[in-house]
Amino acid sequence: MSTITGKTSLVGLLGQPVNHSLSPVMHNAAYEEMGLDWCYVAMPCESKDLEKVTKALRHLGFKGLNITIPHKQEVLKACNKLTEIANDIQAVNTLIPEKNNQWIGANTDVQGFLTPLKEHNLKNKSVVVIGCGGSARAVVMGLSSFNIKKVTIISRNESNLNIFVKSTRNFLSKRDISIKSINNTKLDVSPYIQEADLIINTTPIGMNGSNSKQKNVPLGHEIWDCLSDKTILYDLIYNPKPTNWLKIGQQKNCFTINGLDMLVEQGAFSIRLWSGFHDVPVQTMKSSAEKHLMV
Ligand code: NAP
Repeated sequence: MSTITGKTSLVGLLGQPVNHSLSPVMHNAAYEEMGLDWCYVAMPCESKDLEKVTKALRHLGFKGLNITIPHKQEVLKACNKLTEIANDIQAVNTLIPEKNNQWIGANTDVQGFLTPLKEHNLKNKSVVVIGCGGSARAVVMGLSSFNIKKVTIISRNESNLNIFVKSTRNFLSKRDISIKSINNTKLDVSPYIQEADLIINTTPIGMNGSNSKQKNVPLGHEIWDCLSDKTILYDLIYNPKPTNWLKIGQQKNCFTINGLDMLVEQGAFSIRLWSGFHDVPVQTMKSSAEKHLMV
């Protein structure tokens, strides 16, 4: 990183936990190559402090903020305006400074999520999404741009599932995609796993640094005995690479995708929004993140 001086502008990430995030490494590598005198820092933040912290960082002149787990919905309260996508999915991962010390909420996870799927034909396919938090909203919005047949959302919390389905049904029905929600604490989800062409994990289960243990896999180990080798597994988690869940998929000869490309692409889209520059060194971001993962 070039020398931090009194003129260096700050950019950063708010979430909990953030200590295993690769965002500082890949953002700072990009700024250096772009010749931007910016520095990106990861800042742990509790939900109760989110509103006052975002306000304070705007007053301190931050050039932009990324928002991660578990604040992507909570942070809507700190935004004075939302972009169309952020409003549709009611989830924000990028704050853009606006005049009068205000923030615009945007969501670049949707474009990031889609990047590694572009080479796959998902027409009329069945998709299972595990988890129904902030990133699951971006995932479902992204999926609506393919001609898929149906989406089944599997999660543990009935009321969160109901809210999720209510808020996503609007844009899915416009595309003729049906949505169903299943509470895995009450129902056997193996039929949905068996028939799925694509399964996406949007929970933090298996993530380094999360409360859930790294050796854990979403929905528990047993369910994956019924996994077909035709199914694509997409884990939004990028650390560790691969997660235990993706290792199971690899043993079953499934095509697997980890969250690194999504991370890099959503980060690159955030930089475009903050800097106004279209050319962002995506390859440099990816290789710096990969190098850091190996340390
Ligand atoms: P979030 O808003 O907190 O949502 C997490 C979801 O997972 C919720 O539905 C939650 O269930 C569920 N969940 C959490 N812990 C669980 C557990 N122990 N057992 C079962 N379900 C559990 O988080 P998020 O922002 O969507 O992020 C989720 C994951 O995606 C994180 O690992 C994050 O790093 C990753 N991610 C990666 C990228 C990328 O660029 N690669 C982008 C975004 C997110 P409840 O509804 O019951 O709370």
